[in-house]
Amino acid sequence: MAILEPAPIIDKENPLESMMERFNSAAEILGLDAQTYNVLKSPARQHIVSLPVTMDNGEVRVFEGIRVIHSTILGPSKGGIRFDPGVNLDEVRALAAWMTWKCAVVDIPYGGAKGGVACDPRQMSRGEVERLMRAYTRSMLDVFGPDRDIPAPDMGTGPEEMAWLMDAYSRAKGMTVHAVVTGKPIVLGGSLGRVEATGRGVMVSTMAAMEKLKVNPIQATCAVQGFGNVGSNAAKLLEERGVKVLAISDITGAYYNESGIDIQKAISYKEGNRGTLDGFKEATKIPNEELLTLPVDVLVPAAMEDVITGKNAHQIKARMIIEGANGPTSAKADSIINEKGILVAPDILANAGGVTVSYFEWVQNRLGYKWSKDRVHRRMDKIIRDSFEKVYRTSIEHKVSMRIAAYIVAIDKVAKTFKFRGGY
Ligand code: NAD
Repeated sequence: MAILEPAPIIDKENPLESMMERFNSAAEILGLDAQTYNVLKSPARQHIVSLPVTMDNGEVRVFEGIRVIHSTILGPSKGGIRFDPGVNLDEVRALAAWMTWKCAVVDIPYGGAKGGVACDPRQMSRGEVERLMRAYTRSMLDVFGPDRDIPAPDMGTGPEEMAWLMDAYSRAKGMTVHAVVTGKPIVLGGSLGRVEATGRGVMVSTMAAMEKLKVNPIQATCAVQGFGNVGSNAAKLLEERGVKVLAISDITGAYYNESGIDIQKAISYKEGNRGTLDGFKEATKIPNEELLTLPVDVLVPAAMEDVITGKNAHQIKARMIIEGANGPTSAKADSIINEKGILVAPDILANAGGVTVSYFEWVQNRLGYKWSKDRVHRRMDKIIRDSFEKVYRTSIEHKVSMRIAAYIVAIDKVAKTFKFRGGY
């Protein structure tokens, strides 16, 4: 069987270095002492496992599974599982640290973690993906746990994969453990409002940013990169609030319509087209990179990391960037974007709706009780809105970007908690 090569990634800056650069700036402003700095920058634990999986043709293929626990200072660690050809330890370490800062920014009692397997689920059958997810779970039985480490979906995984994880974990423990994972299907203890939560948080952040810049949503335009869970839900909710979505994109290319794209039509098209926008006729196909530099009010990168870099940042024309993806902007791009006066709602704030509703799911599982969708939306909207205000105020107080302000808010909270816990 052919070994799948990871897709080439052009101009990739190291995400771990990008994260550390922001961490260092915020730590300096906070005057963090060397001891706390060293504890906060190092991942608490890193697990790397080999996962032999029988493929449909009978061959056994060995995948590498990674789980990095960055911090458990605020509580059990929390973070998604990514199935993607580009998964590597550096990336997972950066994503795990981001989870620590993200949970701290929105003030939920979790530490940060992230997991991943280098594989291409689009080239695998559902049976192969299921066997891979169950193998991954079995090898992480001592890592996962409702009070230890609670996974969730990320790129390439969704509710079905989380159901397999919950089932494999529960079988091994000899009891049903709903709260070991979030992002589950509703019938299996998933929370109403979880599927659209990250996209909804992006929308709430966009509305808050528009208010600051005095932009009327009804007159605003937007481009959304990535049309998966985050991008499609963000696009739909922004459209519902009157924003004209001029361009969307996925792995197959970018699609532009100057009169605005009918997002529900695009979602239905994708659903009937094996999950991609390939051949979408309601818009003109443009090169993927062009979407990022369109003259729109709002740019929502919601696909992957390091797409706005030192090479293309100066061409960006949007007035605000609302980061749906984790780490879409490299550290090299930050200064260019700041000089241009673009307001950036950073990933650890703008895409925290997902982990917030994951937290609600875990709370509901532990209570054995279900909240209505309205209650989930209301509580999540308030958390994102309040966090946005806190980060915005911090950015004004310290005269720094929203991104550095978000790191200041997060690191300050984790550092203070670390001091109170002591004992190291
Ligand atoms: P997904 O797999 O559902 O969707 C990813 C989308 O990006 C797909 O439409 C894919 O075709 C597209 N894509 C991939 N490469 C692309 C490229 N080069 N150009 C344009 N589009 C491309 O994943 P998702 O859950 O929507 O996650 C997207 C991003 O959001 C990731 O960075 C993830 O870490 C982050 N995120 C996700 C959640 C969540 O709840 N799902 C929460 C927080 C952050």
